[in-house]
Amino acid sequence: MNILTFGPNGSGKGTQGAIVKEKYGLAHIESGAIFREHIKGGTELGKKAKAYIDRGDLVPDEITVPMVLETLAKSKEKGWLLDGFPRSLEQAKALDKALTESGMALDYVIEITLERQIAKERIMGRRLCANDNNHPNHIAFEAIKPVEKDGRLVCRVCGGELSARADDQDEAAIGKRHDIYYDDKTGTMAAVNYFKQSGKAKVISVDGSKGIKEVSAEILGKLV
Ligand code: AMP
Repeated sequence: MNILTFGPNGSGKGTQGAIVKEKYGLAHIESGAIFREHIKGGTELGKKAKAYIDRGDLVPDEITVPMVLETLAKSKEKGWLLDGFPRSLEQAKALDKALTESGMALDYVIEITLERQIAKERIMGRRLCANDNNHPNHIAFEAIKPVEKDGRLVCRVCGGELSARADDQDEAAIGKRHDIYYDDKTGTMAAVNYFKQSGKAKVISVDGSKGIKEVSAEILGKLV
């Protein structure tokens, strides 16, 4: 099964993606996480991408598109859940073309909707686990609140170190990321509409203002 997930930063898209990929044994491909791995590992690609990411700008397509398409091709047998790509109409077209050329089907498009102001508040409270990117931690959500150990907050799943992403604490960077997401001319909403209108996949649209469990129950209930 191959799935595309859409939702503004802060909508819970990563958390829901982790739940879905677990249930169906899919590869979880997150463009942002691949970039962060490259930055951590000090690769050439990471060095090129860092400044864009810190500002909340998109990394140029000539770096991003091949990086994502290569990762998808490696997960062809297993099936994948793609998160963070496509983020623009151009990327949507490139993805559509690559899928057709490689004979990969797109089965579902999951769209999590959320108002911009709520999305912003949610972004600022999330924390990253040093051990596993799929361990959800958020200081404002009871269900995924980090736990306290020796006077500091650690990952609620594994006790790992937590950090906040620099681009999550910078209001200008958050604003830019949301400008890109909510842009329905050439941005991510245009990509969402492109796939909705293509009729190539079943579309599941859910209200992201509900709790994590409610949202996942709705998604899993429709994914059969
Ligand atoms: P995310 O973890 O999805 O919030 O992504 C973090 C950052 O990585 C974004 O703000 C962009 O700078 C970069 N990025 C992730 N996915 C893409 C993409 N599809 N196209 C361009 N840049 C991206």
